[in-house]
Amino acid sequence: MTGDYPVSGFTGRAKPVFDLDPVHTLKLITELNNGLEIEAMGKTQKLQPTDFFAGCAVSPFKRDEAEQMVQYFKLKKKVEAGAKFIIPQLGYDIRKFHELIQFVRENGWDIPVIGNVYILPYGAAKLMYENKVPGCVVTKELLSVLEKEKDAPDKGKQARLDRAAKMYGFFKGMGYDGVHIGGHGVKLEEVEYIIDKGEEFAKNWMDYVHEFQFPMPNGFYYYEKDEKTGLNTKTPTNRKNRPLDTTVPAMYSFNRFMHELMFEPGKGLFGMMRSIVKSIDGSSMEHAFTRFEHLIKVVLFDCENCGDCALFELAFLCPMSQCPKKQRNGACGGSFEGWCEVYPNKKKCIYVRAYARLKKYGEEETLRDIYVPPANWDFYHTASWINFFLGRDHVGRRLGVPYVPPKKSSK
Ligand code: SF4
Repeated sequence: MTGDYPVSGFTGRAKPVFDLDPVHTLKLITELNNGLEIEAMGKTQKLQPTDFFAGCAVSPFKRDEAEQMVQYFKLKKKVEAGAKFIIPQLGYDIRKFHELIQFVRENGWDIPVIGNVYILPYGAAKLMYENKVPGCVVTKELLSVLEKEKDAPDKGKQARLDRAAKMYGFFKGMGYDGVHIGGHGVKLEEVEYIIDKGEEFAKNWMDYVHEFQFPMPNGFYYYEKDEKTGLNTKTPTNRKNRPLDTTVPAMYSFNRFMHELMFEPGKGLFGMMRSIVKSIDGSSMEHAFTRFEHLIKVVLFDCENCGDCALFELAFLCPMSQCPKKQRNGACGGSFEGWCEVYPNKKKCIYVRAYARLKKYGEEETLRDIYVPPANWDFYHTASWINFFLGRDHVGRRLGVPYVPPKKSSK
């Protein structure tokens, strides 16, 4: 998982550091487990293999198509990066849990999926309903059920435990491989109760489906609804004809046009641009060129001059300036109703915007298929156009642009 955005720090908010996103971290752990090779003192050294068992989180509880699809796109990248198990975010919509296990199995990912059982008291539910616990979803309808339960003589304790046991039961019934049981101040006897009762509920878990139907209003589901069971059919929702979740600025078409004209290897002005850039690289013009490029990209894209540009992959949205957590491979779990976790109701999540832009051209699945590595800080404050046209940055390498070694250090 991505982790939380810092909320405080010494004399002010601490600097958010998100150098590696979860996909990068899983790749690193996989390489550590295989014995990571590093360069040290001019030699290649293989580290002793580690034995981490790293898993990943995913949220099936997203209201909008774009938000949900980028969760599943990122899940694919996480599995390919070596996640050894999957655990969903907290939520109480059974159809969504069913969607996730069906989606994982349909993709042929043979790794354990762990159900998330949280013993939910009213206070925590209210915070989740108010979106004060990023990513955890409680609807108005569920909150009003809990409000009534808390007036019972035991303040709703038995109802909470039975709800948790039924969740255990439906996770087992659906084919989840285990559960994580959580809550505040939970006693061992309560965990034992949930497991024992849950085993009983698992036998007829379908009888309890109606107790966990708390859909988000106008929420998107990956599959069509099975009206008989209240769960999902095997038919994916037709996403093609659904409207975009956010507007696409006219400028995006212009950016695509310029990109096709200059940045597509073997096409348009690519060859000419490469020759110009080659003559500038390492010359007295390089500094001015770097400033010129930065100026254009600040005006157009709010560029932070990382030098290892990911604009091409993210529909001309800069993850370094537009995403507070600098995510390069998909959204974090905290977006809510399309809004960024850090700026709710103010800024749309960068991945919701990228998905809408790409979907307009039928290309949204590139967000799933293209892996974006961490920004290489060797390139920090250098001209990304030079790095690209001379095959040095990640995009140049991915597209097979012939490599030209630097004439001098560009640090
Ligand atoms: S822009 Fe999206 S991915 Fe980035 S922090 Fe906000 S919600 Fe998370």
